[in-house]
Amino acid sequence: ITIEELVDTSYKRINEVDSEVHAFLTLNEEAARKQAKELDEAEDKSAALFGMPSGIKDNIVTKALRTTCASQFLDNFDDPLYNATVVEKLNNEKTITIGKLNMDEFAMGSSNENSSYDPTRNPWNTDYVPGGSSGGSAAAVAAGEVLFSLGSDTGGSIRQPAAFCGVVGLKPTYGRVSRFGLVAFASSLDQIGPITRTVEDSARVLEVIAGHDPMDSTSANVEVPAYTEALTNDVKGLKIAVPEEYLSEGVTPEVRDSVMEALKVYESLGATWEKVSLPHSKYAVATYYLISSSEASANLARFDGVRYGVRSENADNMIDMFKKSRSEGFGDEVKRRIMLGTFALSSGYYDAYYKKAQKVRTLIKNDFDKIFEDYDVVIGPTTPTPAFKVGEKVDDPLTMYANDILTIPVNLAGVPGISVPCGFSEQGLPIGLQIIGKHFDESTVFRAAHAFE
Ligand code: GLN
Repeated sequence: ITIEELVDTSYKRINEVDSEVHAFLTLNEEAARKQAKELDEAEDKSAALFGMPSGIKDNIVTKALRTTCASQFLDNFDDPLYNATVVEKLNNEKTITIGKLNMDEFAMGSSNENSSYDPTRNPWNTDYVPGGSSGGSAAAVAAGEVLFSLGSDTGGSIRQPAAFCGVVGLKPTYGRVSRFGLVAFASSLDQIGPITRTVEDSARVLEVIAGHDPMDSTSANVEVPAYTEALTNDVKGLKIAVPEEYLSEGVTPEVRDSVMEALKVYESLGATWEKVSLPHSKYAVATYYLISSSEASANLARFDGVRYGVRSENADNMIDMFKKSRSEGFGDEVKRRIMLGTFALSSGYYDAYYKKAQKVRTLIKNDFDKIFEDYDVVIGPTTPTPAFKVGEKVDDPLTMYANDILTIPVNLAGVPGISVPCGFSEQGLPIGLQIIGKHFDESTVFRAAHAFE
């Protein structure tokens, strides 16, 4: 098969299904087809991801390719001047960018219903949400529109949609992958990662996008191992911790049963597991919403109608122009976060909310550190329930937030986590198994995930 045929297959599939799935916000068809032709004619075909059709979440900046963060505010951001580091790295290994993927506006949400365009639907059943915020990234892979995609994960936004759509989603260790060119939501939590069909593909993509970047001062100068070498299928002696909190907290029986079945598979492969406790995980959602909203309120201050995006046409003076541009440009959920964050950081409240949240964050990280003294990985469900129906939680932000209860602690601790498919619900919707590892130990996470797959 030629690369031109491969790219053609991608666009054909998009034509077939995307009017229902709505995974894509912008297509890159002309450039992609041209690039495919060049690759077919190239003599050197040795690049690691040669000709692989991929999709990029629309909060990752792509040179000369529209980047909207699914926000009306950036609806006209047609011509970014540079590529995010991850996009540069993919380009160096000759992937083909098929298009930009739908998401919750500025990555705030768990269902894609906060996209200011037509929200993505779950390809398994379009009455259900694909998860969020990287819902487009997960749906595009699940629907066979691209071979892999990139998403971003601040509180679960790669792993939760991967679980809902039955694909593999990895949030790397904080600092493993450069955030340069990722439109910041909460800078101390955000991390870019791959969404793929298989664990092997995930390892191959991470190998390409990981590594230190002088353009991101929080990217770590830690060696990047050959992740594919970890895919040995050997988990004999692997020590698994299963937090009791991850089997309660509103976890439905069918999700719990799938996880217990998965643990049996691990036992049969020679691994052992024990119950442990993450006692502070019950504070994770509250902690996360204080910290992430505080950081978001600062990060989103740059959107003022002057430097980026759409400017209000109804303003009489400068201050009015800032106000109206922000009022018209941002959606409701983004405004809710900015207000919450601004309040939490305001003088008189800083110590009571933001500082307190930072202290609890440390306790949550310590819980993980302690478990990892004795165990190699932590395993549990990715989400308490399979995908929910479109519209079911949209008017109830707190129920929506609670959906991320099992993914958020991982971001707060900065450790890596992957979601791999581990079964189906009665309605035929996928269920995800979450495997969490030590800082910078994605290799063990891949090894455990690959053996189960
Ligand atoms: N659903 C969570 C939120 O709304 C996580 C989002 C994310 O990881 N980007 O903040």
